[in-house]
Amino acid sequence: MNCHRARTLVSPYVDGEIGALRRYSIDRHLRGCATCAAEHHDLLALRARLRAEATYFKAPPELRTRVLALLADAHAATPVRPSRQRDRWRWVTGGALAGCAATVLAWVVGSAAVDWRANQDLAAEAVAIHTRAVLSEHLIEVASSDQHTVKPWLSARLDYSPPVRDMTNEGFALIGGRLDTLDKQRTATLVYRYRQHTIDVFVRPESARAPSGLRIVRGFTVARASGSGMNWLAVSDVSPDVLTAFVQRLARADLSQ
Ligand SMILES: [Zn+2]
Repeated sequence: MNCHRARTLVSPYVDGEIGALRRYSIDRHLRGCATCAAEHHDLLALRARLRAEATYFKAPPELRTRVLALLADAHAATPVRPSRQRDRWRWVTGGALAGCAATVLAWVVGSAAVDWRANQDLAAEAVAIHTRAVLSEHLIEVASSDQHTVKPWLSARLDYSPPVRDMTNEGFALIGGRLDTLDKQRTATLVYRYRQHTIDVFVRPESARAPSGLRIVRGFTVARASGSGMNWLAVSDVSPDVLTAFVQRLARADLSQ
């Protein structure tokens, strides 16, 4: 085997895509040729780096369900015709359908990964804002336990009017509010005290791509709810069940003032 041939085969060789006989020839060539051996070595190093540094997404479980449903649909849509003429046609349409299914699949996987990523990023961003606010002197811009003070203060500085509710009776005392930028949007933040804990509640007009569910980011709980035309995102170091119940109570329309 010469260098030219070896160089075209070194990449599939690294990927384990060639047969035993060729593998043997390349092995022998690499042992005797420093140039090709260096190329082989570089490829191995690149692969190791990619494995160590590339970003991986853990696919959400609902993705599996969606993919299986799509595959079932594509399978059901494949026509079953007996004649030979039709058989050939079936191969063609089958191939086209498989192509469609692959495209849809790629799109579903891609958009699910993007959604999932956005979801993670929003939770991480909210936690970063919360910790920064708690650690700095910037926790509260309007200090008041009176919802009729906090609400107009926020409304005057935003293009929406967030519902503000005092929940002292349930152990969550409103202590004030501030403005934050969350997901590039000016956002109302309500600040509550629960025992020794500070809770930030980010309130924004409801949007179609609002993420939902509970997340734990760096030990902080991020709980979400939708209601009263708003998305509610609460961040704190209180336990997940307490925070979830709280944010759901806030979002519930029957409390609106
Ligand atoms: Zn060589």
